[in-house]
Amino acid sequence: MPPIDQFHPIAISLPLARRRHIEFYLRMSLLLTAFGATIGITCLPAIPCRADESKANLVVRNAVVITVDHARPAATAFAVRDGRFVTVGDEKDVRPLIGPATQVIDAGGRCVTPGFYDAHLHPQPEYPEDSPLGVVDCDPSQVKTIDELIARLRAKADRTPPGQWVKGFRYQDTKLGRHPAREDLDKVSTKHPVYLDHSSWHLAAANSFALRLAHVTRETKDPEGGRFDRDGQGEPTGVLRETARQLVLDAGPTPPLATTAQKLAGMRACFRQYVRNGITSIADAGATPETLQLYQLVQSEEPLLRIYVMMRYAHLEALKTCVAQHGRGNEWLKLGAVKHFHGNSLSGQTCWLYQPYHDRPGYFGIPPQDSQEKLNQIVLEIHRAGFQACIHSNGDREIDMVLNAYAHALDEMPRADHRHRIEHCSVVNEQILKRIRQLGVVVALHSYEWEHGDKMEAYGPERWDWMHPNRAALDLGIPVAGTSDSPVSEPRPLLRIQSMVTRTSAEGKVYGARQRVSVEQAIEIWTLGSAFASFDEKEKGSITPGKLADFAVLSTDPRKVPADKIKDIRVLMTVVGGRIVHREGL
Ligand SMILES: [Zn+2]
Repeated sequence: MPPIDQFHPIAISLPLARRRHIEFYLRMSLLLTAFGATIGITCLPAIPCRADESKANLVVRNAVVITVDHARPAATAFAVRDGRFVTVGDEKDVRPLIGPATQVIDAGGRCVTPGFYDAHLHPQPEYPEDSPLGVVDCDPSQVKTIDELIARLRAKADRTPPGQWVKGFRYQDTKLGRHPAREDLDKVSTKHPVYLDHSSWHLAAANSFALRLAHVTRETKDPEGGRFDRDGQGEPTGVLRETARQLVLDAGPTPPLATTAQKLAGMRACFRQYVRNGITSIADAGATPETLQLYQLVQSEEPLLRIYVMMRYAHLEALKTCVAQHGRGNEWLKLGAVKHFHGNSLSGQTCWLYQPYHDRPGYFGIPPQDSQEKLNQIVLEIHRAGFQACIHSNGDREIDMVLNAYAHALDEMPRADHRHRIEHCSVVNEQILKRIRQLGVVVALHSYEWEHGDKMEAYGPERWDWMHPNRAALDLGIPVAGTSDSPVSEPRPLLRIQSMVTRTSAEGKVYGARQRVSVEQAIEIWTLGSAFASFDEKEKGSITPGKLADFAVLSTDPRKVPADKIKDIRVLMTVVGGRIVHREGL
């Protein structure tokens, strides 16, 4: 908990009532911390009821509505009252609900879908790159070559006091031609530790200064669950895999701390980016009690979207205490899931496989840190506590271990509707999918061929038809959720939908055509599929009377454009609980 005076900058700019609300919340938080519980859920104010109960607050008419409701797949108009859909149908159905105070939106024949639900991503407060908190974005949209990357990081080093971190993120080795080496990053600075995260967030590159601080030399052994890349002479190249990253980060200077006001503003900026893309719900795949506190503050102002929290397994006890005292939250901020890693990265090529990687004979990836026995114990603990287990796992050999653990937990303590999940579940075979189906497991699959198709080269064409198995899972009746894993890939549902429909990279190569799905199926995965994955299918995920009024208005019907143009469709409006949170040109 930061010192209380750090909260004053926010409080000053807020109206008195809101200030009191936050001050009350802070006192509660301190109280909870004092009693050993680090987190708590406060109730958010309900949307006030209208005087004329018979009329709608909002009506959308003249639209092509993809409802994702199998009972009524299409509509042209709908009405919203008190944050929920009340009528879905056509003009004559909504007309009687229009009163003097009703906001009426003429969609001009445009397409409306349920709000998109990104069921696995990693929200991070956005800070200006040139501020001390800023991290340099090295995405291929920003840097095309190693020289450009060095120049961008050097500009940051010039503004940073010597000895402090210079950090970048989102570089892609496949787009740059190789990983940046220690010598490259020494050109950025010899007076700062330089650290650059890969787009997978499972590997990184560091300069000599940073390696020196961590005492990493040719004699240093690889840590458990990680690896230092080495050159022909055994010298570390600066590329750090998995747990080797943390080892170097921990040895460096303490990074500057953001104030709560900065974090709040940064998180709202991040959420604004999501809603611009039509996202109305997210699931944070790796929250801590500290992020939960931040979410409470963010959501105590007019919320931009809804949040499902997957608490990291390390904080299971804090989660249990919180849920016991305060319940599982509400429609804006909901608890109930626990995230754990078992296995490594697909795009970082560290996930553990039965057969060697296509381009590296004898290399099977990096084995997961936990034994089967340890994993069984962790999963059983989550299962017994009544939570949903969300286990990150990519390689076939890791995934089988997760399924063993789910089978073990269900044997010990049967539970009908557990909806335990596998996050990513990238490299599979028919046998694995049948086990998933049999155990009632939900999968949250990648759909990032556009950005990371080229990373699939390492797995070989013989595997492509069994990677990111959206189609095979749907065919078997396995529930599938839509995810970007942002910042691993862009939190743009329409780009993700395009990837699922085309399986084509930005370079134009097709990876695993067998797993293509239709536009309608992809939309359903990104709405109702994700809602099911957090036990919310009765509350959201389709435009159905009674459900929360979350929807997006698109510039074009994604079913009516060539599949490789879906990503260019603009989101003209995003509405959460009947409230417009983004509007552009409508
Ligand atoms: Zn993730």
